[in-house]
Amino acid sequence: MSKKFLYLFKEGHDAFGGDQTTMKNTLGGKGAGLAEMTHAGMPVPQGFTITTEACTKYYEDGRKINDEIKAQIMEYIAKMEEITGKKFGDMENPLLVSVRSGARASMPGMMDTILNLGLNEQVVHVIAEKSNNPRWAWDCYRRFIQMFSDVVMEVGKKYFEKLIDAMKEKKGVTFDTELTAEDLHELANQFKAEYKNQLGKDFPDDPKEQLFAAIEAVFRSWDNPRANIYRMDHDIPYSWGTAVNVQMMAFGNMGDDCGTGVAFTRSPATGSKGLFGEFLTNAQGEDVVAGVRTPMPITEMEQKFPEAFKQFVEVCQTLENHYHDMQDMEFTVEHGKLYMLQTRNGKRTAAAAIKIACDLIDEGMISEEEALMQIDAKSLDMLLHPTFDAAALKKAQPVGKGIAASPGAAAGTIVFTAEDAVVHGKRGEKVVLVRLETSPEDIEGMKYSQGILTVRGGQTSHAAVVARGMGTCCVSGCGDIKMDEENKCFTLAGKVYHEGDVLSLDGSTGNIYGELIPTVPADPNSGYFGRIMELADKYKTMGVRTNADTPKDAKQAAAFGAQGIGLCRTEHMFFDPARIGAFREMICSETVAEREAALAKIEPMQQADFEGLFEALDGHPDTIRFLDPPLHEFVPTDEADIEALAKTQGKSVAYIKQVINDLHEFNPMMGHRGCRLTVTYPEIGVMQTRAIIKAALAVQGRHPDWQVVPEIMIPLVGEVKEYKFVKNIVVKTADELIAASGVALKYEVGTMIEIPRAALTADEIAKEADFFCFGTNDLTQMTFGFSRDDAGKFLPAYYANKIYESDPFARLDTIGVGKLMEMAVKLGKAANPKLHCGICGEHGGDPSSIEFCNEIGLNYVSCSPYRVPIARLSAAQAAIKAKK
Ligand code: PEP
Ligand code: MG
Repeated sequence: MSKKFLYLFKEGHDAFGGDQTTMKNTLGGKGAGLAEMTHAGMPVPQGFTITTEACTKYYEDGRKINDEIKAQIMEYIAKMEEITGKKFGDMENPLLVSVRSGARASMPGMMDTILNLGLNEQVVHVIAEKSNNPRWAWDCYRRFIQMFSDVVMEVGKKYFEKLIDAMKEKKGVTFDTELTAEDLHELANQFKAEYKNQLGKDFPDDPKEQLFAAIEAVFRSWDNPRANIYRMDHDIPYSWGTAVNVQMMAFGNMGDDCGTGVAFTRSPATGSKGLFGEFLTNAQGEDVVAGVRTPMPITEMEQKFPEAFKQFVEVCQTLENHYHDMQDMEFTVEHGKLYMLQTRNGKRTAAAAIKIACDLIDEGMISEEEALMQIDAKSLDMLLHPTFDAAALKKAQPVGKGIAASPGAAAGTIVFTAEDAVVHGKRGEKVVLVRLETSPEDIEGMKYSQGILTVRGGQTSHAAVVARGMGTCCVSGCGDIKMDEENKCFTLAGKVYHEGDVLSLDGSTGNIYGELIPTVPADPNSGYFGRIMELADKYKTMGVRTNADTPKDAKQAAAFGAQGIGLCRTEHMFFDPARIGAFREMICSETVAEREAALAKIEPMQQADFEGLFEALDGHPDTIRFLDPPLHEFVPTDEADIEALAKTQGKSVAYIKQVINDLHEFNPMMGHRGCRLTVTYPEIGVMQTRAIIKAALAVQGRHPDWQVVPEIMIPLVGEVKEYKFVKNIVVKTADELIAASGVALKYEVGTMIEIPRAALTADEIAKEADFFCFGTNDLTQMTFGFSRDDAGKFLPAYYANKIYESDPFARLDTIGVGKLMEMAVKLGKAANPKLHCGICGEHGGDPSSIEFCNEIGLNYVSCSPYRVPIARLSAAQAAIKAKK
């Protein structure tokens, strides 16, 4: 039997036994929602879903819809015609459809939609006459030509927008709704002429030809640049594909007793309970989201369409109760009758996510575990961003107000294009992007902006939805702004703002300020955030530590819930200009005596640093790593610095230059670094051990109730004998100091696993080690054989060619690097049951990598301070998943 690639909405639920996951995987989120709503008897215009598997097949077949799928589409068109009683291209009762994408995970605004498909000149006349509403008929047709040209044939929207603007100007009107049937008819003709002008062929009249082209365009849109960026940012595999939904049109643009809207059952910005959304009369779907007209709040719909509103409120309640989550719905009202077009779990800000999760627990709708699973761990990052300093904000005078579309505080200089935002943002400058409205092409620029301000559009405009998804502050729909995009300036409250002028935006109030307002860090320990973090700690089984080199970072991480330090990179303590001198003396020493003299200067500095760290940790464990980087990274390059070094060393400048020259390596990352430094210069290991143990003894003395247990970590080990060599230095030095102190201080010695050979021989090393910590930055570098510093130059070509879907330095390669890790844990724990294992590469703060770490039995993950809350929640989610 041939594979089934299509499902009617009314088949979707039963075909998968109502299983939400399989429905979503096969029918996509939108298809699953439509099937579920149909099953529940809700008013859904009927149609069918082409599965995600058909999309995958399309790509497998070299971007072709194969004959089998084509035949099934034809079969389902016939079924749809039978259900709706309408026919494509019919002169009595023509069928018009929407063709919309719908991947498993919602990707708002990333892929394409075509409405009013099935129209041609003759059909327009039929529907104009039958409806007695020629204005509507021509409005549908000009929209269809425009959307089809843009999405299917990739003729830019701008050509059509220019024609609309010219028509509005000619007619002396502001809004599309003011154009008459004749104007729209003329526009449709102009659009078709433009189509021919651009493509050299006529606009297609055959509805089935239109349909196949539209379906193919939706499949194609899975691979468009903005979808690819979105997928990488959200860890959505390319292999998932998108489903396509073909649905009978319901018309919101047939007059003032019609309309269309988007609504959420709770606020996607704050999470507060209650219907929240927007509505536009006499409009079609894209008008609400495109922000071309500013819509009215959903509550006003009650006055205009009391019956439809009442039914809609009931539908919302039913859907939320069914899905146990906040729903994001699209609907249309046609002559007062409600039609549901979509429902899905709504995208939300992190603040909204944690409030909704807590409220749903309290309302008895979901369990604590379900609440934790509902929150996108990565999004917590948004909550750690600074907010405006309350006192400074109080003093500041707003110069305007828009819609508070995405919370947060933004302060920066004004840019007017997404391209400029990218250029300035990449330089590390803080920019606020000001636009009439944003469109999907602006996504990259939006990523680089502190905040986004638009003149048009409401809560569900593109700018608002995308900004909320990114956790970026957004104020939309500030109609008081007189925008002059061409000349890169705008006027607000009588003042002209140019590119480079400053602006602050408050995404929680919609206030706009013509000045830079200072910001303060966020607090993760109170309110809903605190409650979610407590719950995360209740369910997680792995520990969460931090990578920190200073007491300030350690304290910040501890405030975010870190349970100790997983990696202190001791070399980072020497970047300070006041210290680099002593370090350089050590590097450029010629004899052991010279090196020891320099090390003697360094030792008290290190000891003081380590005391600061132990103090900051309140007795939690602290893993301190021996010096790791290639020494040449620290040598002076500046003539004055070289002269100063020569003077302190009592050497000639020429001699020092020679030493520096000798330190040159062809491949420093594989050169004289890591444990190799102590193998060649044991006195470095002695000094570092002394500094660590003396600091631990001092802090233990000051805090008898703590148990300070330093963990000394030896980097870049590949052979048990080299590890043993360094460990012996540590043990001899530490034991002598401890014995002399009379304090029963415990300490541990372990190694980083960051060279494949260490993973391969983990059983031998584990017999000698108290712990392993996976340095997955180097392990990734060495396993792939490409440089972590240079890979950025060629990886984009790998993404473009779908060789890698994500950056292996950001998201763990569980297949290759992960295999080495899993093997090392197994071998290591079998050889030494007491061995504890962690990770301290960048992956320790990445949710999907954390899930893998949990699977292979790591005891903790360690990440930068600002990722600690993300890691806590991810660890809880991993533990909950593992229990299932
Ligand atoms: C690693 O290699 O993963 C690691 C944590 O060490 P570094 O980044 O300092 O090389
Ligand atoms: Mg490393």
